[in-house]
Amino acid sequence: MNQDSSDYAYLASNWEAVRERVDAACCAAGREPSEVSILPVSKTFGPDVVRAAMALGLKRFGENKVQEVRSKAEALAGEGIAWVVIGHLQTNKAKDVARLASEVQSLDRIELAEALHRRLQVEERVIDVLVEVKTSPEESKHGLPPAELPAFLDALRAYDTLRVKGLMTLAVQSDDAEAVRACFRHLRRLRDEAQAQGHELSRLSMGMSGDFPLAIAEGATEVRIGTAIFGRRV
Ligand SMILES: *Cc1c(COP(=O)(O)O)cnc(C)c1O
Repeated sequence: MNQDSSDYAYLASNWEAVRERVDAACCAAGREPSEVSILPVSKTFGPDVVRAAMALGLKRFGENKVQEVRSKAEALAGEGIAWVVIGHLQTNKAKDVARLASEVQSLDRIELAEALHRRLQVEERVIDVLVEVKTSPEESKHGLPPAELPAFLDALRAYDTLRVKGLMTLAVQSDDAEAVRACFRHLRRLRDEAQAQGHELSRLSMGMSGDFPLAIAEGATEVRIGTAIFGRRV
C-alpha cells in the first residue's frame, strides 16, 4: 500500500510551527534565529516518516537506539541522511555507531570514547561528538558528573577520531521552570569554563519539545525536537 504524501501534511505544519516558536524564543532572548538549529528526533517513527520529513529539507535526524539507526539507515541508504545518536550508548554498539552515525551527542565516559575511537580507526572515519553532562539529580538520567568534565575533556584530546564540538544535557523533568532553567544554565556555565581552559566548545545541545524556549533563553545552539514535529510516540 503506497501512502500518499498528503498523509504527512501534518509534518510540514508541525515543522513550520516549531521553527516559528524557536524563532520567537530567540527574539525574546535577544538572539538571532540563525544561532539555533533544530535537530528533529525521529525515534520510534519509521523510514516512511523520515522520508516525508526529508521532503521538507531535513537531513539530520536524532535517534536514541543504535538498532533503530541500523534499520533506518538500511531502508534509507543512499539518501544522504546524517544520523545523530542522542541516547545512552553501550560500548558493544560502537561498531555500528562508527559505521553509521555522523555524530554522537551522548558521549559520557572514557570507555565509550575508547571503543568508538578503535572502531572509527578501523572505518577510517572521524565524527563530531558532544559530551553529555548530567545536570539534573534524577537517577534515570545519564551523563558525566559535572565535576569530572575538565579531566574528561583533557583525556578526549588523545582520540583524534572524535571531534569534540560541545556539550549536551537533559534538564530535570519538572513543572518548575526555574529548576529546568537551572540545568540549562549549569551546562552553559560548564561550557564557558571549559572554553576558558582552551577547549573549543561552540555547541550547546539542550531543550526538547517541552522545554526548548527555556533552553534557548539560556544559550542553546541546538534543540532536539521529537514530539512537537512527529507527534506522540506510541
Ligand atoms: C526523545 C529525545 C528527545 C526529544 O524529545 P521530545 O520531548 O519528544 O521532543 C530529545 N533528546 C533526547 C536525548 C531524547 O531521547
